[in-house]
Amino acid sequence: MTDLVQRVRDVLPSVRADLEDLVRIQSVWADPERRPEVQRSAEAVSKLLSDAGFGDVRIVAEGGAPAVIAHHPAPDGAPTVLLYAHHDVQPEGEATQWHTPPFEPTERDGRLYGRGTADDKAGIATHLAAFRAHGGRPPVGVTVFVEGEEESGSPSLSRLLAAHREALAADVIVIADSDNWSTEIPSLTVSLRGLADCIVEVATLDHGLHSGMWGGVVPDALTVLVRLLATLHDDEGNVAVEGLHDTDTSGLDFPDYTPERVRADTGLLDGVREIGSGSVAQRLWAKPAITVIGIDTTPIAKASNTLIPRARAKVSMRVAPGGDATAHLAALTSHLQARAPWGAQVTVTPGDLGEPYAIAASGPVYDAARSAFRDAWGHDAVDAGVGGSIPFIAEFAAAFPDAKILVTGVEDPDTQAHSINESLHLGVLERAATAEAFLLARLGGSDGQVAP
Ligand SMILES: [Zn+2]
Repeated sequence: MTDLVQRVRDVLPSVRADLEDLVRIQSVWADPERRPEVQRSAEAVSKLLSDAGFGDVRIVAEGGAPAVIAHHPAPDGAPTVLLYAHHDVQPEGEATQWHTPPFEPTERDGRLYGRGTADDKAGIATHLAAFRAHGGRPPVGVTVFVEGEEESGSPSLSRLLAAHREALAADVIVIADSDNWSTEIPSLTVSLRGLADCIVEVATLDHGLHSGMWGGVVPDALTVLVRLLATLHDDEGNVAVEGLHDTDTSGLDFPDYTPERVRADTGLLDGVREIGSGSVAQRLWAKPAITVIGIDTTPIAKASNTLIPRARAKVSMRVAPGGDATAHLAALTSHLQARAPWGAQVTVTPGDLGEPYAIAASGPVYDAARSAFRDAWGHDAVDAGVGGSIPFIAEFAAAFPDAKILVTGVEDPDTQAHSINESLHLGVLERAATAEAFLLARLGGSDGQVAP
């Protein structure tokens, strides 16, 4: 009998090489010119899964990006586990700001740098490692589902779930697309905030005016916009929009962040203070947040002494678990419409919506997961929230209400997902893969020993 810990160690070099090949494919679905790369990426993932021993592997699409579904049937009476990851990546941003080329995976100090090394091609690598560690014969059924447009908000996911309902049905769903508390302490993600965004446009004049002629008499749109945006928070930095939901966290035992960790993890500049009231965990996971993420107006290079007639901003809101994203967008919209100074005209255009989600993480499946984490990491998992959103989790929960959902991940506080210099901690990849291999064993009623 060979221990699964060793089996994962044995397969890791090949998994790492496969991960590097995937990172070299620029699968940015948000960039229309690189959509053929997303197709190439789906084909590469499909080949890896076939080679790993999945008998039934398909590339599917429902009017959106190509996804891959691979299935390995369950032994008699054993449950089926769905392993989720996504093969698309965020755009790389300013390539010159990367220390090494974004699509050339590079190891430095135990970390693998490159776009998608962690988010979420490491999720694919984790599933491959766990399956290979079982020699392609885990004691449970395994379906791998690798989506291709998660970073664009999963627009065709509901159609994929409906069209491939039977192929995707499972007793347990493992979503490997989240964070860990540190490189040494794993997290089980139990709550996620939702998202609602909109564009607010302000108009004050039917054309631009000489500011020397009319400044001080009629308002310019940019000043109005700035004053309007300033009403979204109180002086402490708490969200000041009425009717938004705060989650009651009294029954939850969230870990907390020290002020030093907040400063280090965020790069907060000297003298700049945190905003909002309550613990960091509460503010991050259980309260709404509003951020202005873009403004269209006259750029400084083209600025003249003119009263600007129109200006607009994109406003993004995080919705606390238990809140309703649609209702939150309505509350934000009426706030913006009611508060523009000096009678300025306001138009709000609704944008994306994603529902928040909270998981009741107790029962045998979660017990199995917690013991798998403990044995793989040498440390208990902490139950953590996530300030961001994985909207499709709510869609999965709605499509498969009886399935238990586990949100795991291969990121750590230094990963910088979505930012420049994204990286994967290679020790975390090994521990995450070992935990998943143990999980498959335990859900199949075995203790983690497999025949060599
Ligand atoms: Zn992701």
